[in-house]
Amino acid sequence: MDVLIKNGFLVDGSGNKPFMADVAIERDIICGVGHFESSEARSVIDATGKMVTPGFIDGHTHAELYTLKNRQCPNEIYQGISTIVTGQCGLGFAPIKDDQFDDSIKVNSGIFGDYRHYLNHWNSFKEFLNQLDGSAVNVAANVSHNSVRQMALGFENKPLRGAALETAKLVLNQAMEDGALGMSVGLSYYPGGYSDTQELIELCKVVKKHDGLFCPHLRNDDGQIPLNPVEEIVQVVKQTGVRLNMLHYRTRGFENISTLFQPFEELEEQGADIHYEYYPYLVGAGLVLALVPSWAQEGGFSKIMECLQSPDLRPRLIKDMDERHKYFFAEGQTAIINLTKDIYSKEIGKSISDIATEHGEGFSESVIRLLVDNELQVGFTGVENQSEELKKKLYEDQYKLFIDKRYTIPAGLMCHPRAFGSFPRIISQMRDRGVPVEYIIQKLTSIPAAIYKLKDRGLIEVGKKADICILDYDRVKDTATFSDTRKQPDGIETLFVNGLPVMTGRSLTGILSGKALRKGE
Ligand SMILES: [Zn+2]
Repeated sequence: MDVLIKNGFLVDGSGNKPFMADVAIERDIICGVGHFESSEARSVIDATGKMVTPGFIDGHTHAELYTLKNRQCPNEIYQGISTIVTGQCGLGFAPIKDDQFDDSIKVNSGIFGDYRHYLNHWNSFKEFLNQLDGSAVNVAANVSHNSVRQMALGFENKPLRGAALETAKLVLNQAMEDGALGMSVGLSYYPGGYSDTQELIELCKVVKKHDGLFCPHLRNDDGQIPLNPVEEIVQVVKQTGVRLNMLHYRTRGFENISTLFQPFEELEEQGADIHYEYYPYLVGAGLVLALVPSWAQEGGFSKIMECLQSPDLRPRLIKDMDERHKYFFAEGQTAIINLTKDIYSKEIGKSISDIATEHGEGFSESVIRLLVDNELQVGFTGVENQSEELKKKLYEDQYKLFIDKRYTIPAGLMCHPRAFGSFPRIISQMRDRGVPVEYIIQKLTSIPAAIYKLKDRGLIEVGKKADICILDYDRVKDTATFSDTRKQPDGIETLFVNGLPVMTGRSLTGILSGKALRKGE
């Protein structure tokens, strides 16, 4: 054997109670779990007093372009994450046409950044996945609805029908054959949001044919379609039987969490395969362009820039943005600018409200100015300004969702403490509430592996791929904060990806042993 991890306290990811055991690795495979002599191995790691778990699986990231820029993936490795899923929320870049490459990246640069200088072009989903091979983590991906739509209809504002719909179905089918785990949709982003329910049903029939996962980010409830946004998803599942994972489906604190499941109860009783996710913070992050109404996001980068700068359209734009505000922020809430085109911009770290006051302009006017000045490359993070009482209730709700097996907890990316802190945060929160370790680890490993059909991952078991994390369980804790987002968590020490150490003693080794994973791998 190549590596022997000796005397660790093994939590194997299955939900079984922990036990003392050695783990043996041969090449990239776990070849033994039990007791072995040190002399049998080329190298031995003493894990006395430490916990040994499968590498964690982060089911929801927007990290594809960042990963192509920085193959070391420090934020993920530091958290013990060995596999990420990208292409969520309907946002993604494969498949793609050559003439859409720049537009697509610029329009989404408020969340993904603009790393075009680091990228080689690709077209098919297969070529895109191939490029992600050889990062520090394994990368699997959904095909995004935006990509599928752009291949069929560019950035046009109408639902897919007829020939365009047929093209989209062929494109989607090919991406599924190329190894996509499923399809994500982002119905408050564009062009995905220009779809209607019928379009989603037609596309999900293709996803269902491949037993893929349908991952929706909900539409804003603004009357664009006759159904409410959750009911729309219920209809899609009812009519296609597609497996469902509701992205960031969590309470904002105003509703009773039991009502979250009600729309799905009938489907669940009939055996539908339904999952939900939340992440362990109370506010999110996103691209500032999302605050602009749908009609102003038509036509791609140049059209959007023109529209934002048009004096004629300005009154309507401001009025509709003020209207749209409530879909993103609760009463009295604002957002901090976390990303701009100029990485040294003085606006980073300031709230949009403060920027507006400084410039003597309204909130929406500031948003437009920021978008134009930064050529759309501007992102925001929410502000946790809930009362202590409300925060307590929200974290209590998160605990209840955590102990529900249908829920998974992804980490995510982007200038938000979640990028470095989610998994250690969830471990420490739930550990301190007395949730059994075997359940916590199962949530972060074999449960997401099963949902995303990554069959070789998420368990420490003979024959599985050797993605293994070694941690000092009692010390695990996130340290990243909203004012200091890029901080390495405590307690997570060593990580193997495909049998090779990408981190030892909390330091990156520089080894890039991650693979691009196709569905079923
Ligand atoms: Zn989303």
